[in-house]
Amino acid sequence: MSNDLIALAGNPNAGKTSLFNAITGARQHVANYPGVTVERKEGYYSHNGHDLHIVDLPGTYSLTAYSPEELVAREVLTTAQPRVVINIVDASNLDRNLYLTLQLFELGIPVVIALNMMDVAEGRGMEIDVVQLSQKLNVPVIPTIARSGQGKEELLTVASRIAREGAGSLSPPQIPYGPDIDPVLQEMEEKISAAGLLTAFYPARWTALKFLESDEEVVARGRATAPELSAELEKMVAKVSEHLRKTLDTYPEGIIADYRYGFIAALLKSGVLKQKHEADRLYLSDRIDRVLTHRLAGPLVMCVLLYGLYYFAFTFSDIPVKWLQDGFAALGGVIESNLAPGLLRSLLVNGVINGVGGILGFVPIIIFIFLGIAFLEDSGYLARAAFMLDRVFRTFGLHGNSFMAYIVGGGIAGGCGVPGVMATRTLRSSNERLATMLTIGFMNCGAKLPVYALLIGAFFAGNKPQMMMLLTLISWSMAFLVAKFLRTTVLRGPNTPFLLELPPYRLPTARGLAIHTWERSWLYVRKAGTVLLAVSILFWALMNFPRLPESKKAAFDAQRRALAAGPAWQVKGVVAKGTDGTASAIDAEEAREALRYSVAGRMGTALEHITHLCGFDWRTNVALVGGVAGKEIVVSVLSTAYSMGRTGDRKNIPLGALLAADPAWNPLVAFTLIIFTMLYVPCVVSVVCLAKEAGSWKWALFSVVFNTTVAFVMAVLIYQGGRLLGIGI
Ligand code: GDP
Ligand code: MG
Repeated sequence: MSNDLIALAGNPNAGKTSLFNAITGARQHVANYPGVTVERKEGYYSHNGHDLHIVDLPGTYSLTAYSPEELVAREVLTTAQPRVVINIVDASNLDRNLYLTLQLFELGIPVVIALNMMDVAEGRGMEIDVVQLSQKLNVPVIPTIARSGQGKEELLTVASRIAREGAGSLSPPQIPYGPDIDPVLQEMEEKISAAGLLTAFYPARWTALKFLESDEEVVARGRATAPELSAELEKMVAKVSEHLRKTLDTYPEGIIADYRYGFIAALLKSGVLKQKHEADRLYLSDRIDRVLTHRLAGPLVMCVLLYGLYYFAFTFSDIPVKWLQDGFAALGGVIESNLAPGLLRSLLVNGVINGVGGILGFVPIIIFIFLGIAFLEDSGYLARAAFMLDRVFRTFGLHGNSFMAYIVGGGIAGGCGVPGVMATRTLRSSNERLATMLTIGFMNCGAKLPVYALLIGAFFAGNKPQMMMLLTLISWSMAFLVAKFLRTTVLRGPNTPFLLELPPYRLPTARGLAIHTWERSWLYVRKAGTVLLAVSILFWALMNFPRLPESKKAAFDAQRRALAAGPAWQVKGVVAKGTDGTASAIDAEEAREALRYSVAGRMGTALEHITHLCGFDWRTNVALVGGVAGKEIVVSVLSTAYSMGRTGDRKNIPLGALLAADPAWNPLVAFTLIIFTMLYVPCVVSVVCLAKEAGSWKWALFSVVFNTTVAFVMAVLIYQGGRLLGIGI
């Protein structure tokens, strides 16, 4: 059976992902922000027994070689050679969107236009003559509403017919580039055809245009395959460039772009597009923008929204969090009453239920935060935030596109550094990109949230949203300062401009919100059930072996016998210090001893030599070592460590309450631990991802050492400062 490749191409936000999902049924990230789709996404669809293989190209405005997306899109179009390109065009934004269409025409692959967002165009009072548009461009044009799947069937019917039978007589017009360019273009095209230069990949005219546009990639390929011909072509380009510079003070690229826009403007004016009336919607969007992106009101609104989001998340999650924690405690109780004491019971109760349950207990908070973020994103607000923050980013040597990478990495809380690092692919300058990548680790990813939730709940219960807001400010400030530091030292270089189109505000659909929230939450839960489960078990083992030697066990047994023989005061001196002399206290003391004796205990104790400077005891140290695998593990290890020493009536107390009651803990220690967790080495997976994306282990290693140093210095400053001032102790 044949398997025809169809590519989806279009501007960012034209609805590619929506259409792709409507066709393949795959659920994916649908972000209302230009440039997040950098990955190549593929899907399959069977249409009337004809198998189609569909690839979703990155959203681009153009096919020059300026950005990674453009390069990826071009690469797929020219090397994978799809049978058809479905070009998704935003009908409400025709003039800008058709710019890409014209370039697709020049690639020589049959094009089918999906005229998307027809509902939006109508709402704005635009009347598009689809038949005329199709006739003038001489390609099929099918109106669609990707969000509801409308028009999808017809689009696929046409696309699959062309994939099978070819475009036939449908061939788009050749765009004229005027008296200066056209003759040279013609001549170059002939030379390229005759020599067969790169003709296996590109049409000759396209290659000629790329030479005229001084496209680095194509020129380099030309030089490598045919140095002499390339030199000749470059000479021709130099001549026309010189001429244009003298006569019109411009470059060939400028002329080419002008003619393309001119072609589109003429096409639309010729009767294809009629504007009935300026719709209220547009005015409304503009009016909202006047407030939301106002120089003073804008940032204020942003803070209020953020605070509102945290307030909402913490308030509404309180009850389900309690249910879950009670549920896990009950589950532990069931196992304890049905299994004899021993390693298996300890593994299940301490390792699995306390370890993983400790993390899962906080999932409701995460779900609520994700819901809030999905709302901000789908409504188009995040694009405004990026727009407002662009100047701030610039000040610190970052780029407007860094914003989305930060958000994906947990800028609002609850993201993940791995997709965050990938999202930096939208940055053109490698220094800005590196600076962004290296600071994403400071964002409050979903893994840090259980740690925050635990400690905030235990020590700052009265100020949950305020604390979360404070932590967000701290993490952004640290990211900015470190970015600035990097950009003035190892990553020096100029800033690149930021172009962002503000999409109109849209009321998010319940379904869209549900899908986004579900996808992200599910990834989170799945991680807890797989990787984190494995690491929790590993750390349980590290905390249980080696077991206490027989001689020590015998000493505890002696205490228990002594206790059974008479009241506690009679065995003074035998009972260990710090216990109240009851049997359960002896058990607890033995468990604590055993924990200290284990591999993990020794490791943690050894680290105390340095960590006493920031108030961390050996159990916290073990937790932090575990946290390198994933920061949720900090909670999981603390939970296991404290549950192992727990007996009798203290068994069902949640970890937060145990910490709050423990003399070694106080708000200052808790806050120091929160900040350390926020800043220290990114988790293993994101370090690996960073190495891959940065193209060298050097930067990954740098982030490990650098972040941990920053975290330690900050932790010591906070802890010692707090003690000196007597705050939180
Ligand atoms: P992409 O960037 O090209 O992948 O675009 P998306 O598929 O992510 O769509 C961007 C936004 O436009 C999302 O909020 C979609 O829900 C919305 N959208 C997509 N197609 C339509 C449509 O036909 N009509 C309307 N009203 N909204 C749409
Ligand atoms: Mg997309």
